[in-house]
Amino acid sequence: MKILVGAIGHESNTFTPFLTRLEDFRPRYGQETLAPPIRHGAFGGIVTTLQAHPDVVLAPSVTAHAMPGGVVERGAFETLKAALLEAAHDVDGACIFLHGAMRAEGVDYAENDILTALRAKLGPDVPITIALDMHANIVAETARTVNAMVAYHTAPHDDTYETGAKAAEMLLHLLEGGHLAMGFAKVPFLLPGEKAETSVGAMREMMQLVDDLEAQPGIVSASLMNGHCWADVPDIGVSAVVVTDGDETLAQAEADQLAATFWARRADFDFHTEAYPVDEAVRVAMTASESTVFLSDSGDNPGAGGTTDVTAVLESLLRQGATNTVVASIWDAESVAACIAAGVGHEVNLNIGGKLDTRHSKPLPVTGTVRLISDGDTYWGGVRAPERLMQRGPTVVLTVDGVDVILTAERQSYVDPAQFHSLGIDPLAYKIVVPKRGYLTTPLQAISPRSILAVSPGVTNCDVRQLKYRRVQRPMYPLDEF
Ligand SMILES: [Zn+2]
Repeated sequence: MKILVGAIGHESNTFTPFLTRLEDFRPRYGQETLAPPIRHGAFGGIVTTLQAHPDVVLAPSVTAHAMPGGVVERGAFETLKAALLEAAHDVDGACIFLHGAMRAEGVDYAENDILTALRAKLGPDVPITIALDMHANIVAETARTVNAMVAYHTAPHDDTYETGAKAAEMLLHLLEGGHLAMGFAKVPFLLPGEKAETSVGAMREMMQLVDDLEAQPGIVSASLMNGHCWADVPDIGVSAVVVTDGDETLAQAEADQLAATFWARRADFDFHTEAYPVDEAVRVAMTASESTVFLSDSGDNPGAGGTTDVTAVLESLLRQGATNTVVASIWDAESVAACIAAGVGHEVNLNIGGKLDTRHSKPLPVTGTVRLISDGDTYWGGVRAPERLMQRGPTVVLTVDGVDVILTAERQSYVDPAQFHSLGIDPLAYKIVVPKRGYLTTPLQAISPRSILAVSPGVTNCDVRQLKYRRVQRPMYPLDEF
């Protein structure tokens, strides 16, 4: 059996003021996509599971993952789509990872566009299964186009490999003559991921329902996707998907039931990290009794498309006299160049940040001392192996009135203590650590004595009513109360 495999991942924020380019995806094509290391992530789960089957031959197409950001350039999207379709030749099945929240210029539902084209090319009888991110925004047509889908069950995402493996198992089940039926239902709810962590609160209870459902006979898989709310496209929201071993009525009834329960509980989804407006969040962090507080700048979260150049939290820290603080990070290539030109130990006057997201931020005038200049190389997870090397471009640490500001020449996401260590920074030596994140990633959470969340401005503002949605279907909760 020849099976098409591939992965295209992007979470596209329509409020982000720049486009995502082909090079941002670092695409690999054909056999290159199967070169080690691929044994992690959803694509790793797909490939490893299929390769374990004696009769399977893989038809590799493309793997491409870009950091969440602005809408994808149309040409880049067409290139990736064409690479996937080109390999869809003479295959018996297809198993693909797609994030589920990608948009391209002129294409509101990019994954649906890809899958519709794939279905047209393969015809109605070749099975297609997909693995998705939990923040996927699925439209009904996709559910009619593919045979089965499954999404991550955890946020932060700790089950990516297992999700890919599940998509592959469902495909093998179909190829071996088994049956699957899928039910799909949607909830009109713009839900920030920060209010839907799976380890706490309403989302934890919803995922318990999913687990209970999956334990029932006849149910193959169930998924709840809370969507990517920072996209101004008409058909958006939370999706419920149930896959059964062939019973269509049961699949649809259970998907409808999950969606109805989600809707009934919509007011219960709330922050489970302490959350405050910016000034209050800074004040709480400054007066905390804990030795270190992680203060998330949630409105400018690159993990959901933030520019990382919104200066509101830094401005508040400096105005309120916070010291022993590190801010990770502000994207400002101009200021990085100025710091490198000045050299370590020298004083500089700069207007930092506020150059990209001019709607929610403005440059902040500061006088600081250049403390460190780095090439930005980091070994992921602290493991010094060649495949663990991340090269993220020139990075400097600028000290302004007791606040260490990490300035980067490229947009960065500080998700792992190793990134701080590579700059000679021990985050736990600071009173306040400000990552531009929503909820903390698992490695940061693991070392954080206390985390609080600033509901801050930016393109990932967790108070979605602060953003200007023009195209989403109405009524839409919580833009409308109904
Ligand atoms: Zn996600």
